[in-house]
Amino acid sequence: TQLNKESLYQLSEVANEYYQNQLWNTEEGANIGISYFRERSIRDDIIKQFQLGYSPKDWAAFTDFAFNKGYKKEILEQSGLAIFKESSDQGFDRFRERVIFPIHSFSGRVLGFGGRVLQNNVKTAKYINSPESEIYHKSQILYGLFQAKSFIIKEDNCFLVEGYMDVISLYQNGIKNVVASSGTSLTVEQIRLIKRLTNNITVLYDGDQAGIKASFRSIDMILNQEMNVKVLRFPEGEDPDSFAGKHTADEIKIFFKENSKDFIQFKTDVLLKETKGDPIKKASLIRDIVGSIALIKNLIQKEIYIKECSRILDISEQVLFSELAQLTQQNV
Ligand code: ATP
Ligand code: MN
Ligand code: MN
Ligand code: MN
Repeated sequence: TQLNKESLYQLSEVANEYYQNQLWNTEEGANIGISYFRERSIRDDIIKQFQLGYSPKDWAAFTDFAFNKGYKKEILEQSGLAIFKESSDQGFDRFRERVIFPIHSFSGRVLGFGGRVLQNNVKTAKYINSPESEIYHKSQILYGLFQAKSFIIKEDNCFLVEGYMDVISLYQNGIKNVVASSGTSLTVEQIRLIKRLTNNITVLYDGDQAGIKASFRSIDMILNQEMNVKVLRFPEGEDPDSFAGKHTADEIKIFFKENSKDFIQFKTDVLLKETKGDPIKKASLIRDIVGSIALIKNLIQKEIYIKECSRILDISEQVLFSELAQLTQQNV
């Protein structure tokens, strides 16, 4: 209900202020939380702008705080901020001893949170997120969109990354038109959120096998929404955040300009490496790329891409067009 939603928004705002207060105004927050962000070279002004916080070690620090403010078990449970075991009335905090990333709506309301452990080698999940609720639908949210939206319009492009820290690092280094589909693989709803601001997306996934695979999937989904997609590949083992840590803001900007490739160039680069001159593999590569082109609805764009494909792969346009016709037939 609307009333229930309002309570959830209100509680999220209370939690957001609580976690920030823990970070800035407690000894534990300074020793653990602030030190963590310092180690990762995040500036104070950026910590404040993204409203990053810290959740203490205590089992029920926030839960008790919220109880004292008059919040009831039911709403605390719905928000996911507190967890109650087997209908017990004593709840405990979902986020404990983590740095906190509040997740905002398009208009800046806090909808939920992500929390990261402080050491990489602990047994619990590196990141946890708020569970689905009446206000938090992860498939319809992009992390950083609230902070990035005016820059996406200005640049007429949106950089799409994997994680919270990628967004924050790039933003800090002057690349502010950046969002992440944190905690979920890219959805159609998320692409449509970007489409309200620009028709251009540059995908910047981690430089590993999983990142490449995710790029391929995202390319087709973005083309399906009649948008333009470029891809920027990172060196093996790097993600945007680790890359940003090793370069100056100017170097990052130049690298981005020089290495953004359109999706055809990206797919051929990746796939050609695997074919090693084998004609059967090359044929399957061509079908794969033509399959992406088949998703484009605009006929002129389609032709431009077929021409590019023909040039890169050294296959006649005629053959590519007939392949395209076959695939389009199958799609109907
Ligand atoms: P960091 O740089 O802090 O180590 P990362 O963002 O590089 O983190 P990845 O492993 O590349 O971490 O994951 C990318 C994103 O996927 C994360 O930012 C987070 O949103 C999400 N994610 C990662 N691990 C988990 C997890 N165990 N549970 C839920 N979401 C996760
Ligand atoms: Mn990864
Ligand atoms: Mn990563
Ligand atoms: Mn990372």
